[in-house]
Amino acid sequence: MITFPKHLLDGYRTFSTQRLPTEQTRYRDLSVKGQSPEVMVIGCCDSRVSPEVIFDAGPGELFVVRNVANLVPVYEPDGGAHGISAALEYAVNVLRIKHIVVLGHAQCGGIRAFIDKIEPLSPGDFIGRWMQMFIKPGEVVEQRDHETMQQFTVRIEKAAIFRSLENLMTFPFVKERVQKGEMDLHGAYFGVAEGTLFVLDKATKEFKSARSVAA
Ligand SMILES: [Zn+2]
Repeated sequence: MITFPKHLLDGYRTFSTQRLPTEQTRYRDLSVKGQSPEVMVIGCCDSRVSPEVIFDAGPGELFVVRNVANLVPVYEPDGGAHGISAALEYAVNVLRIKHIVVLGHAQCGGIRAFIDKIEPLSPGDFIGRWMQMFIKPGEVVEQRDHETMQQFTVRIEKAAIFRSLENLMTFPFVKERVQKGEMDLHGAYFGVAEGTLFVLDKATKEFKSARSVAA
């Protein structure tokens, strides 16, 4: 007996009868020619923040890697197995993508765990260790006097985007292509409740509503 979740089978049925017919040609084309997305998105695992949904993207358009709190590690060629770095290497060196978007979001559980000092997780747990890459040695992350918990959380969620963008530039193959003007790095922040997307203005280092940017 197959115990595969029924709602997934139902979902696939809907996909195969409704969406697939309209995109069958595109799938066949992508199968023959291979993928050539221009954009890589580094997002969070959070089920509410699906890049393909938010950017209304079809098959072959986005090269996506997701992890807890959309973090990019620093370049670390130490012989270990690094999933994010491998995806990044493939996207940049093989697919020659033109844009990398780090997509953060509101109410991020990974950031929450970090802010709450990872309680009740133990120091040996994976999330705690994973989130440690977010801070530099000696760096202290604390709520400021005038800040509410909500403001503090949002500030740290956005700081995770800045840190990932900073860490991306520690990869020699990323840095080289960015400096040559062949590739751009971007930040974005998704407000879950309102479905509002904010994009990073690199000049002011502020996030602006995508609706106002597009207008
Ligand atoms: Zn998250």
